[in-house]
Amino acid sequence: MNRTRFAPSPTGFLHLGHALAALYAEAAGEEMLVRVEDIDTTRCRPEFDAAIFEDLAWLGIRWTGPVWRQSERFDAYRAALAHLEDQSLLYPCFCTRKEIQAEIAGVDAAPHGPDGPLYPGTCRHLSTEERAEKLAADRPYALRIDMERAIAATARPLTFREHGVEIVSNPEQFGDAILARKETPTSYHLAVTVDDAAQGVTLVTRAEDLLPATHLHRLLQALLDLPTPDYRHFPLLKGADGKRLAKRDGAKSLRELRTEGVSPEDVRRQLGF
Ligand code: GLU
Repeated sequence: MNRTRFAPSPTGFLHLGHALAALYAEAAGEEMLVRVEDIDTTRCRPEFDAAIFEDLAWLGIRWTGPVWRQSERFDAYRAALAHLEDQSLLYPCFCTRKEIQAEIAGVDAAPHGPDGPLYPGTCRHLSTEERAEKLAADRPYALRIDMERAIAATARPLTFREHGVEIVSNPEQFGDAILARKETPTSYHLAVTVDDAAQGVTLVTRAEDLLPATHLHRLLQALLDLPTPDYRHFPLLKGADGKRLAKRDGAKSLRELRTEGVSPEDVRRQLGF
């Protein structure tokens, strides 16, 4: 049984890009789940969450329940972090964004990854005493993966299938990525990897801007003994200006289109479904 998922974040109303993701997942899966990715409690709102289901119903999209919410899954993410910690693959990072920027500014051609400049590794070198002191002082921190160690801990090469083609994963490009923060004990990368496995998702479909993230997810799967689903990343929907369609660029929400008289059939046709 082929199981896909549509995994929106309730930080705004769904727009055409979301409709494409939902239609793509529905068409690719014999069964499609809906998962609400609401770990960022400062940006997610209940009215956007409720609207997801109204909009999907309006579009005539059928999904299989129950709906999971990531805000109810923090224990599972903590358990995954503990598993990584047991392998000594995490370290607390106390650097502020400003401190990291200042450190990078002093380096010629600082390396960049898919999520921005690579962390220079400052806190990886703290002594046990320095670390204990900062923790005792209740300094806020993020948990970073020690990428070099993590790669050394896995059997190489790690691969995943993208549109049926075997790809060798290259998680190095992320450097020591953040997997959790003190106030949000998970990150997109960790939560999505844990949940796709826990929900038995066999085929991950999502927009191509998340293809690089898959390289890091593949590493986490190996470290957490999780299965690797197949992947199909689809081209991003572009606006008339050729740029990615996003709410901040004034892309209309499905409900705005609806009040303008656009029908679900119009949306499906426009998106090729
Ligand atoms: N929650 C993500 C988003 O709304 C999608 C994540 C995924 O499909 O892996 O962009």
